[in-house]
Amino acid sequence: MRLRNIPRAAEEVAASPYVEQQPAGWQGRWLQRFCSQNPLHIEIGMGKGRFLMQMAALHPQINYIGFERYTSVLLRAVEKLAGAEPAPDNLLFVCEDASRLPEFFAPGEIGKIYLNFSDPWPKERHAARRLTSPAFLSRYGQVLAADGTIEFKTDNQDLFGYSLTAAQESGWQIIASTRDLHHDPLGQDNIMTEYEEKFSSKGNPICKMVLKKRGSVRT
Ligand code: SAH
Repeated sequence: MRLRNIPRAAEEVAASPYVEQQPAGWQGRWLQRFCSQNPLHIEIGMGKGRFLMQMAALHPQINYIGFERYTSVLLRAVEKLAGAEPAPDNLLFVCEDASRLPEFFAPGEIGKIYLNFSDPWPKERHAARRLTSPAFLSRYGQVLAADGTIEFKTDNQDLFGYSLTAAQESGWQIIASTRDLHHDPLGQDNIMTEYEEKFSSKGNPICKMVLKKRGSVRT
């Protein structure tokens, strides 16, 4: 997601009580940060945050953390959350690059990772930047619990195909997959993201896969 640079974004994101500024300091201790024993689920590349805000309201027994690397994008989520009634106590944001995940979480600390409409990076020379590349999958494998899952949605057919192959070759189990989520039982409790609404209203079918770690993930 590209937004024009918003000069006040860095300042507002830094001052928001909803943004954790020192995520590495909570590695292995996030349940203390949330003051609860509930499972921890994260979204990587949360954009303007509507998906996580709805999920947090629907599932008060889950703690959610959203990662977004650009302050100008995260600002939109911070502004929305500042006006939320009631204020959720199970949702935090982090403005960092997801490549640093293993610095922020202990092995097995996360129950579920959501990737929604990740940037496709269509050029081959940018393949390593895709959030479903083998290097990113390996990072997810480090921080996910043994029974943890990744849920990935996109309308980009090429990225979906690439991601299926990357998952298989990296030793993940594909426990569910569809290329038309909105007409599939897998979409039953689907919460739409901002991008999902935009792309599906143009007529693009939405793809989804759910991945689970095998006994031991090959690296
Ligand atoms: N999930 C939202 C936004 C999708 S756009 C939706 O579905 O509507 C993808 C977002 O991922 C962008 O805002 C981009 O800045 C963010 N992003 C991409 N790579 C990232 C990374 N390595 N770490 C954190 N955020 C990332």
